[in-house]
Amino acid sequence: MVIERANAKINLTLDVLYKRIDGYHEVDMVLQTIDLADIVSLEETAGSDITVDATVGNIPLDSRNLAVVAAESFRRHSGLRKGVHIHIQKEIPVAAGLAGGSADAAAVLRGLNRLWGTGYELGQLAQWGAEIGSDVPFCVVGGCAVARGRGECLTPVDHSLLPWVVLVHPAVYVSTFEVYAAWEAIGEQKTGEIIEKQRIGEMVGKPRVGETGNEGMVRALSAGNYAWVQNAMHNDLAPVAYHLYPEVNGLRTRLEKTLQVPVHMSGSGPTLFTLAPSQTVARRIYNTLRGFLKEVYLSRFISV
Ligand code: ATP
Repeated sequence: MVIERANAKINLTLDVLYKRIDGYHEVDMVLQTIDLADIVSLEETAGSDITVDATVGNIPLDSRNLAVVAAESFRRHSGLRKGVHIHIQKEIPVAAGLAGGSADAAAVLRGLNRLWGTGYELGQLAQWGAEIGSDVPFCVVGGCAVARGRGECLTPVDHSLLPWVVLVHPAVYVSTFEVYAAWEAIGEQKTGEIIEKQRIGEMVGKPRVGETGNEGMVRALSAGNYAWVQNAMHNDLAPVAYHLYPEVNGLRTRLEKTLQVPVHMSGSGPTLFTLAPSQTVARRIYNTLRGFLKEVYLSRFISV
């Protein structure tokens, strides 16, 4: 049996550049692995079935499960036909903007590589991961990276800042599709090199003015400057999600008032989080929030 940690990610920045003609959105973001993780166990079975079970009931336990999709992908690419049972101990909230499903898929790719001794490079697994979902390549590699394209084109960011993170998962169902659709309707778009892409027909929609947020974030991380990192936090989808889901905005406002710290949203939401410079500060925030909220998590940046 092989056991893999499937770590969640948070967005330190997220810029949506434009909608592409393939229907995906071109994004430019800085992603960071945190130590909140599902535990994925892989056990070889007789026969050739891929089966899955999980400690929660709100994810599909059939071929739609991203862990199963990843196992199928691994077998297809490697040519192996062995059976495997996947057990997911779910700790990452589902459909939360924390890439839980992608993390499980990435853990399966890494885990099967170990279980079956195939010795593929992480880069190869990340390439297969891109066929499963935009966030899977990042989850295969982990750490911190600038992610472009659909999120699959990665440039590692080497830094040694390890702040703490307190996350709150509001009990609100957020549709990633609706958040992006609303972003399009609002029509915030960018100029510059993107105009060139528009000219050659690679994008739909008008370009937006201004530079992306990740340059400042990468500078802040590379300088190891926590205050700069706080200042560079940015998510294009946050105002859209707050508009669509006023209860998430209400919670964010309440958290900022109570804690007197900036509160951010990860991905397309609804998970909210705040950074803390030390464990003591993080624990104080965590304990305060646990008093009136159900799903609160204490976590930390991890490097690879
Ligand atoms: P992202 O940040 O990559 O957009 P997310 O954190 O918002 O992802 P997930 O937790 O990955 O969302 O779940 C998205 C959808 O994927 C859910 O509707 C869920 O049912 C489905 N899903 C399939 N497999 C899994 C899995 N192993 N874990 C969680 N969700 C899964």
